Amino acid sequence: MATDLARNLARIRERIDAACLRAGRDPGEVRLVAVSKTVPAEIVEAGIEAGLTILGENYVQEAEAKIESIGRTRAAWHFIGRLQTNKARYAVRLFDLIHSVDSFKLARELDKRAAGQGSRQAVLVQVNVSGEATKGGTALDQAAELVDRIGGLPNLDLKGLMTMPPFFDQPDRARPYFASLRELKDRIGPPLVELSMGMSGDFEAAVEEGATLVRVGTALFGSRS
Ligand SMILES: *Cc1c(COP(=O)(O)O)cnc(C)c1O
Repeated sequence: MATDLARNLARIRERIDAACLRAGRDPGEVRLVAVSKTVPAEIVEAGIEAGLTILGENYVQEAEAKIESIGRTRAAWHFIGRLQTNKARYAVRLFDLIHSVDSFKLARELDKRAAGQGSRQAVLVQVNVSGEATKGGTALDQAAELVDRIGGLPNLDLKGLMTMPPFFDQPDRARPYFASLRELKDRIGPPLVELSMGMSGDFEAAVEEGATLVRVGTALFGSRS
């Protein structure tokens, strides 16, 4: 298992770097978020030993147990799942970056909880570029306003945008969604720098379209049971 992990990691990193070269980008701009939902703590630990530096978790309780066993500082912990407002106070305690802020209500709660523990919380705004009802995220035409309002919250650091395109067998079909997110980021400008986009099936297309954080689970850890 550990050797598979190291091999998968090396292969994914090569593919990210090659996609950067094709797009004329510096490979140093793209970081890999290893999506460790459902992956047991021992395997996540082996992953850290193999060189993973960022873990992405979808469920607060699962992440809390894993962070307890592995430690808070051996890697960065990112939250990428749907976050309920009533979990905000756990989230600010656990995560270095929350990718999935999709409402001002949630942002305001995170801001309040960060203030309460005397910290600042780094966040991304999740945008539902496709408009699919099953996807989280704020609507594309409301994203700029949400970014603006979050900019007024003193304890949040807004770093960028995140999206999940519809699932396609051909990764090229996800490309227009990635391009739309990049265009939105460019249009809004600072403080937005990060673009969290691309998963196991489509991360190369996402990198070619400007991703700075790719969220890869299956291609790294194998299929989830
Ligand atoms: C599970 C998940 C991923 C990783 O998906 P894979 O296809 O396993 O790489 C990425 N982003 C989010 C938001 C997820 O929930």
